[in-house]
Amino acid sequence: MLRKRVSLWLLLCLALLPLLLLSGCVVPVETQYKSTYLDLFDTVSQIVGYDTDQEAFVEFSGQVKAGLAEYHALYDIYHDEAVVSIKTVNDNAGIQPVVVDRRIIDLLLESREIYDITEGKTNIALGAVLEIWHTYREAGLEDPENAELPPMEALEEAANHVDIDDIIIDEEASTVYLRDPLMSLDVGAVAKGFAAERAAESIEASGRTGVLLSIGGNVRAIGVKPDGSAWNVAIQNPDLESDQTSLFTLSIDNLSVVTSGSYQRYYTVDGVKYNHIIDPETLMPTTYFIGISVVTADSGLADGLSTALFCIPLEEGRALVASLDGVEACWVEPDGTIEMTDGFQALIQP
Ligand code: AMP
Ligand code: MG
Repeated sequence: MLRKRVSLWLLLCLALLPLLLLSGCVVPVETQYKSTYLDLFDTVSQIVGYDTDQEAFVEFSGQVKAGLAEYHALYDIYHDEAVVSIKTVNDNAGIQPVVVDRRIIDLLLESREIYDITEGKTNIALGAVLEIWHTYREAGLEDPENAELPPMEALEEAANHVDIDDIIIDEEASTVYLRDPLMSLDVGAVAKGFAAERAAESIEASGRTGVLLSIGGNVRAIGVKPDGSAWNVAIQNPDLESDQTSLFTLSIDNLSVVTSGSYQRYYTVDGVKYNHIIDPETLMPTTYFIGISVVTADSGLADGLSTALFCIPLEEGRALVASLDGVEACWVEPDGTIEMTDGFQALIQP
């Protein structure tokens, strides 16, 4: 009787074996893949995700990249050969309204909101001033010995043409008109984050999750990793000479981490570094901080805030962050002192 029961068990196990083996074969094992691009928004971009099939991931990341490349072309202030871009709008300042893609209008509307939230510190209409700094910075990088600061009179004259209310948007006609012929738009402070957020939205809509997008200093997590764990995002040490390349690592899911840094773009005049973030009041590069990271759900808001926080002292910055729901920040001062909100601290991996 016992022998009969054992052999029955044996038979059952043998019968189930192919099924077990088969199911072992079809349980999808997802591998992490990473696509890197060097031609988006003049920075290094990465799309990290998981798939059972490398080809499927490459196709997916290629689609995301193509979408981001369209945003890049639309928000370009230097080229408009491929598409009507922000440059076309700038070139038609004081001349005529330009029919634009809805994605340009959406960026401008959000930029206005960011202008209001930051009380004008992040101002996409600051182009006339930023253009002067850009010209002097490029010349100074090309010929460091003769690097110069722009004359204050030129900056002050340009500052007469930075009124965000002179951007006339007609949503129905889908046109943008810059009413002041001497004004221009520079969307460098917000475009990457806004585009990353739109890309994240379309990834979410496609049903895919477990993706990390990174466009330069703009990181956006879509969901968590397939094993349910959060993403690790290292915060760059703004002191590039330090052996320690990152300050700490954050653990994030469904959030954005956007970093602005004075080390990202600068030039040197008489031994002093002048960075690319310009305080709209002093018209000079900011000096309060060397790095600021903002964490919040919306990557566009995080981008706009990281630039604005560079232009205001710590306590004012803390007050601004505290006034906003779900926003955390970390500030690095020129001497290396690190300040952060409690919520930011809570995201740091032990
Ligand atoms: P971000 O790296 O996001 O802080 O953006 C920096 C870029 O934004 C600069 O390279 C300029 O193109 C632009 N920018 C600099 N200062 C300002 C400002 N106060 N408001 C709006 N845009 C700015
Ligand atoms: Mg920004």
